[in-house]
Formats: sequence, structure tokens, C-alpha cells
Amino acid sequence: MTKISKNDKELKKIKNEVLNCKKCQLYKTRNYPVIGEGNHQAKVILVGESPGANEDKTGRPFCGAAGKILDELLETADLKREKVYITNILKDRPPNNRDPQPEEIKACTPYLERQIEIISPEVICPLGNFATRFILKKYDLEEQLKGISKIHGKVFIAKDLFGSVKIIPFYHPAAAVYNINMKEVLKKDFEILRKLKNIK
Ligand code: URA
Repeated sequence: MTKISKNDKELKKIKNEVLNCKKCQLYKTRNYPVIGEGNHQAKVILVGESPGANEDKTGRPFCGAAGKILDELLETADLKREKVYITNILKDRPPNNRDPQPEEIKACTPYLERQIEIISPEVICPLGNFATRFILKKYDLEEQLKGISKIHGKVFIAKDLFGSVKIIPFYHPAAAVYNINMKEVLKKDFEILRKLKNIK
């Protein structure tokens, strides 16, 4: 089987599992789970926090106001949305956009871990504090973990089953929806992606 069809098949399996998932309570209040979208051979995976109202209505990640910002940022990085893979820590929307709870993160992140393993990207970009905490812990970089204001735009190198992977935490794009200064900080950080070789 080619890598393309193998990845498609394995990601589809995850999709079916998430559609039927009852490992936490969020399935009761969601409309659609937001499983992930993009290139199944992506060199870059972006990991958000959890779906918002627009995402819950469509099943697509980052399709509301934060998504518009993310599109601008990807443009800054000279990356097309279709070239990257975008997913979240939680696949279901928490009611009223509250923070993800530890038991929800525990129940849901095995899906994210499998998505990362299947796609085996060169770069993982956690967006915001929740995703950054999870990804740095997963890669045994907990001692480097500080608030996102201290480590945004830094490049961490980690080892994985598939070799070495770069982890670059960014502020969550939602932080820039009403804050133009934050958008400038994010754009500057996304320049790092534009300069990286072999991820286009
Ligand atoms: N915020 C996120 O973290 N993820 C989405 O998909 C949308 C908004």
C-alpha cells in the first residue's frame, strides 16, 4: 500500500472512532466533532485548543474569526491551508467555549497522538497554552514549559518514533481577533515557518 492510501485509511479510521466516541461528556452537547483537516502527508501540523461555535456547526477546524487570522498567518509563512494539517486538542466543542478539562484532554488526546504518528510531520505548531502544554509534555520537554508569552516562536527539537521533530509554539490566533499588536507578534513568529526549508 502506498503511504498516501495508508495514511488516508488510518486517518479515516480515527474519524469513524471520533464520530462514535463517548469517552467524555462532550459528545452530548456537540453538533459535529472537528476531527482535523488538511494534507494527510503534511510536513506541518497545527494544533489548536478546541472547536468553537462555527467549527461545531461545520465540523471544520478554524473556520470562524480565529480561522481568518490563521489564514493570514499561513500566508505570512507562505504555506497553503491544503499543505498543512490542522486539528485540535479536543475534537468536540466544550459548552460556552469553556476551557478543556483535564479528563477531557486525557480522553481525547490519544486521537491527536495517533494523527501525529500517522502523518509524521517535520514540524508541530501548538497554538496557545493548552496545546503547548500537551505537546511539550508528550515530547518530554516539560522542563522547558513556561507560559506561552515566554516561549512563543521558539524552536524546540524533540525525538519521535519517526526521527526528529521541531516544535514551535505560537500564541493562539484568537488572541489576535481584537488585538492588532498580537497579530503583529504572531506574524513575526510565523516568519520562522517561512524560513524553514523542506516544509512546503
Ligand atoms: N479555536 C481552536 O482552538 N480551534 C478551532 O478549531 C477553532 C477555534
